[in-house]
Amino acid sequence: MIAELIAVGTELLLGSIANTDAQYLSEKLSAMGITVHHHTVVGDNPGRLAEALETARKRADIIITTGGLGPTCDDLTKQTICRTFGRELELHADILEEIRTWFRTKLGREMPENNVQQALLPVNCTVFDNPVGTAPGCAFEENGVHVLMLPGPPFECRYLFEHRAARYLEKLADGVIVSHEIKIFGMGESSVEEALREPMATLANPTLAPYAKLNECMVRATAKAETREAAEKMLAPLVEQVRTALGDVVYGVDVESLEAVVSALLRERGLTLSAAESCTGGLIAKRMTDLPGASSVFRGGVVSYTNGVKSGVLGVSGELLEEYGAVSEPAARAMAEGCRNICGSDLAVSVTGVAGPDRDSRGNEVGTVYIALAGPEGTICRKLSCGRGRGRDRVRSAAASSAFDMIRRQLLGLPL
Ligand code: ATP
Ligand code: MG
Repeated sequence: MIAELIAVGTELLLGSIANTDAQYLSEKLSAMGITVHHHTVVGDNPGRLAEALETARKRADIIITTGGLGPTCDDLTKQTICRTFGRELELHADILEEIRTWFRTKLGREMPENNVQQALLPVNCTVFDNPVGTAPGCAFEENGVHVLMLPGPPFECRYLFEHRAARYLEKLADGVIVSHEIKIFGMGESSVEEALREPMATLANPTLAPYAKLNECMVRATAKAETREAAEKMLAPLVEQVRTALGDVVYGVDVESLEAVVSALLRERGLTLSAAESCTGGLIAKRMTDLPGASSVFRGGVVSYTNGVKSGVLGVSGELLEEYGAVSEPAARAMAEGCRNICGSDLAVSVTGVAGPDRDSRGNEVGTVYIALAGPEGTICRKLSCGRGRGRDRVRSAAASSAFDMIRRQLLGLPL
């Protein structure tokens, strides 16, 4: 099955917003084994949308549109699709009632009359009712082409895809497609490909495909079979093969992130963490606290950006900073130990380094980062070169990821 995504919205063309709906949908579709050949973006213009639809119907089996399902006069997606595919719109009384109720209960007011438009849907379509917003989505088939319409706001688009459209699409495929994501930190995409060249090149079902992500990479194993159980049976030995080939750089399968793995390990062991951050500027704390339930494992942290805060708050001695500099192993160790003391955590991680764009006054290169981890059995420290030449953001995010990986390795007794 070949799919094409058409995003409708002048804001996208003006650069006011990025087409994150397309990114999300493409990722989901590829995991389902549906190949996406084109992303198209058109403004809120019925003529150009009709052209895009005419082109798409010739080359895709599935067309998914996002946006333009709202109640205002620039929301033209349904009308244009119906005209292009020769369908009428009809009023769905039950959907209209749901929208009225949504206004009353969620917004505390009566539905404006132009919202009636949102209950107009193509005849004989599958309705994707929308409990997280007002615009329902829908789908129909015309001459072997499936057309799905999803709302533009990302939260609604994702919700309707996951809870409504995915099921519609699964029914189109004969059999089921199951995939597992093997997450990797500390090995580049090309080395991963090198290590897995044989299975990647030769396998047809199941398949293995590599993906590069920010600071890390991922291998997706996908199998197609009659049943979920049969697909899982095909995948289990393959996932094991990848784990064996790559070793301990694999930090998890179907896990969210390095910090999620660290958080789960801490919870399992009843341990708490805190963070003293210089060049990461709070990113470790942010990533920990992005996880729901973080307070049971993360006690807090200090953004000790200046020497004054490193000394005054964390208790790093002024002489030490004077002698070795803030970007040094002794400073990193003292920051972690000081943080562990003041936060009262079992473990404390510290990061100090040069985010750039220039070297520091002691000549440390951009990307030089010291990460220390203080715990009941002492303190360990590593010097790394993180994300050099790719800007401050990359140095910071690579340093934070490296810190999480160091904690993971320490907790699992793996070599650093
Ligand atoms: P509404 O009922 O809110 O009008 P809609 O389905 O008509 O929803 P649009 O009016 O096209 O959608 O877009 C509403 C908002 O959704 C936009 O302002 C933008 O913030 C977001 N949005 C729309 N399309 C996309 C997209 N492709 N990627 C990310 N965000 C989007
Ligand atoms: Mg709109």
